[in-house]
Amino acid sequence: MERIKGKSIFEGIVIGEPYLRKKKVLNIKEYKIDEADVEKEINRFIVALEETKSEIRFLKNSLKGKINDDELKILKVHLMVLDDPVLLSEINSGISKRLTNAEKVVDTVVGNYIEMFSKLKDPVYRQRALDIKDIGEKLINHLLSEKRELEDLDGKILLAKEVFPSELLKAHHKGIDLKGVVTEHGGDTSHVAILAKALKIPTLMGVRGIKQMKWEGTIILDTRKDNSCVIKDPSAEVLEGYIAEKNRLNQQTKEYEKLRDLPAETMDGERINLYVNVGGNLDLEEIGKQCPEGVGLLRSEFIYIDSEFFPSEEKQMEIYERVYKQMGGDGKSLTIRTLDIGADKNLDYYEMPEEINPSLGLRGLRFTLAHESIFKDQLRAILRVAHGKNIKIMYPMVTNLWELEAAEEILNDVKAELRAEGKTFKEDIEIGIMVEVPSVVLLADVFAQKVDFFSIGTNDLTQYILAADRQSSEVANLYDGYDPAVLRAINMLSEAAAKYGKKVSVCGEMGGDPMAILAFMSFGIFDLSMLSAFVPRAKSIIRNVSLEEVRKLKDELLASKDSEEVREILKRSLRGKL
Ligand code: PEP
Ligand code: MG
Repeated sequence: MERIKGKSIFEGIVIGEPYLRKKKVLNIKEYKIDEADVEKEINRFIVALEETKSEIRFLKNSLKGKINDDELKILKVHLMVLDDPVLLSEINSGISKRLTNAEKVVDTVVGNYIEMFSKLKDPVYRQRALDIKDIGEKLINHLLSEKRELEDLDGKILLAKEVFPSELLKAHHKGIDLKGVVTEHGGDTSHVAILAKALKIPTLMGVRGIKQMKWEGTIILDTRKDNSCVIKDPSAEVLEGYIAEKNRLNQQTKEYEKLRDLPAETMDGERINLYVNVGGNLDLEEIGKQCPEGVGLLRSEFIYIDSEFFPSEEKQMEIYERVYKQMGGDGKSLTIRTLDIGADKNLDYYEMPEEINPSLGLRGLRFTLAHESIFKDQLRAILRVAHGKNIKIMYPMVTNLWELEAAEEILNDVKAELRAEGKTFKEDIEIGIMVEVPSVVLLADVFAQKVDFFSIGTNDLTQYILAADRQSSEVANLYDGYDPAVLRAINMLSEAAAKYGKKVSVCGEMGGDPMAILAFMSFGIFDLSMLSAFVPRAKSIIRNVSLEEVRKLKDELLASKDSEEVREILKRSLRGKL
């Protein structure tokens, strides 16, 4: 028996069969297709082509700043080759003229290119042969995996070096029951992690040496925060213990569900307002189930990421209307965060400037202020939909007061335009900002006089306070929201906001974290936004504590030396409450 530790992304216990993703040996079979099926076969190729491109783009975006420029350029070259009209037309005509399956045609066409380039003397061209070989393999892998791997994953725990968001989505759309995921790479706030949470797949990341180990028989994946690990060759006794524990968890989930219609109220009667985060269509499907007070964070970038080009005002209006309806309409509130792209989030149709350190570069409000017409389209859409509704605007990645003033000026221009056009819109819309950059905490009293509300983005705030990349597994030990420096910042912000009577909520991943919830309540933060899946557990915690007791934690937490101490205090307070 062996216990291998990792970082929990979505909690649960899975007992099941492993599926270790190895480097695939490509087994390309040739078969003939009917003339009537040519279009279908070309479509298969186009889907594989798009998936290959989005995989490379994802890689390129997540590696920005982590590898050198030459290595990044290789990925750019790969993308260029995949857009090469000659290559694409050779593959298309290979399928339609030779009536042969796509993977065989790709293999042959790519093979010809490799041969041609590898004979050339210039080492630059010889390198191109390697690039083309790599791309060919990726394309063929996508064509083959469409049939093979997804089905093989059904009912299994996937173990891999890394997993792409597109893979999880594809499995979900095809109805594949992926029981759990274990990866070497990735961190809690990476996109694949956020997706794993949305799909409620117990996931463990940062597990070293997966591929060097032998995986067979039944394994146990325990992604509960405290002892998150994957267990190889469990003894009969351990297995038995886990079966009992799993049953207990299932029972607990049923108990949580019973809280669905009960308020999130402490034992001494303090109401905590719970909102949900929406970052894609999957979350939207879920909010019908649990969405007590509304949507606390609509990550509007998902609309831009899912579009072919910057979405029009009308298209955005349609989506905001849909979210408002889906969350339960009037009586609830919807906070729309304006476009937050840059750093780890990019658009396929827009080339962001090359920056050595994109997390400190053009992102969030910095981007929209630099692209006024994109910003204006979004503000128009929000203002118009918000007419007669409880909808608020929130700006991401605010750093300086002048940015807020510049945004205000643009908003006023947009209102004037709408007025002149005779369009109805919400005149007195509330404006809030995300607290993600330490400067906002340090100047909280100044900002508090300018905004209607604050929402703390703990994902970025942690990264910027601790100077630890939220996506990097290399510094995952430094990236820790329980660090007392982060908690002190949150408390400072809360105190300054209270002085000016401004509301504060938390909408980063910590907003749904059981221990962190107690810390926030102790600081007087009573508005939390989280994934819909975490609402029942949050309710259960809140209903099992008294605010009077929780408040006593504040001084102890703020006096802690390190995150270890913070965890101890919170764990102790949570004992017996979950
Ligand atoms: C955050 O930074 O905490 C946040 C909610 O924004 P995002 O995760 O979308 O960057
Ligand atoms: Mg953020």
